[in-house]
Amino acid sequence: MNAVEIQHLSFRYPNGTEALRAISCSVAEGSCVGLIGPNGAGKSTLLLHLNGILPETLGKESYVRIFGEPVGRHNLDTIRRTVGLLFQNPDDQLFCPTVFEDIAFGPQQFGLSARAVNTKVQDTLKRVGLCGFEQKSPHHLSQGEKRRICLASVLACEPRILVLDEPTSDLDPRSRREFKILLRQITATKIIASHDLDMIAELCDHVLVLDGGTIVAEGQTIKLLNDEALMLAHGLERPHSLRHLHPHG
Ligand code: ADP
Repeated sequence: MNAVEIQHLSFRYPNGTEALRAISCSVAEGSCVGLIGPNGAGKSTLLLHLNGILPETLGKESYVRIFGEPVGRHNLDTIRRTVGLLFQNPDDQLFCPTVFEDIAFGPQQFGLSARAVNTKVQDTLKRVGLCGFEQKSPHHLSQGEKRRICLASVLACEPRILVLDEPTSDLDPRSRREFKILLRQITATKIIASHDLDMIAELCDHVLVLDGGTIVAEGQTIKLLNDEALMLAHGLERPHSLRHLHPHG
């Protein structure tokens, strides 16, 4: 079954910028898909459509479906429970005075008891390796810690689809490595937009290349990322990890 199915999705911001032009694609359940492309390609805009943050009046011919359900105003609660979105900027995700409250927010919305919420917070903190951080202020954490707390706040809602917008852009190499390990352990369907093509090569089995609001290529990760001409044509670069493996490929 497809976790995500998008058909003829176009989107124009109120100022007239045409960010998406007739996008059609699908993401199989359980897969990890990379979304790559130059700045301004439309990656974030596309991700914001996956849980209805950017609603668009869609018809029969154009839709975003999550496990077969067309995203619309009527089912936003269900969709947002199914699709967990990690924002590009952690400060957009963390808005409470304490880590506990930030992670508890989602489960509380779902009506869990105080005891169950507490267990959920402890469990997710353990999962992201930050036990004991409950009473800290999210805004006093390092970028790596902030990213993990964002991930914990999303995981606490147990999404079937995890959507990540540039999750490692502000991390140092060690935090980046640790974050990748965390991501690999998550079995949900994953969609990752990133310029970190080494991470994409490591984690994703399938890649979509977006440029100018359209999908210009898609396919098996290693094959696409090794296509130097394709990478250069869309403001990208063959990742170093693949250069090492395929010096002439
Ligand atoms: P990417 O994530 O690939 O860098 P974006 O989805 O952020 O691309 O942007 C796609 C296009 O939409 C760009 O031309 C960008 O300038 C424009 N855009 C993004 N956000 C807004 C906004 N809130 N209002 C108007 N234009 C926007």
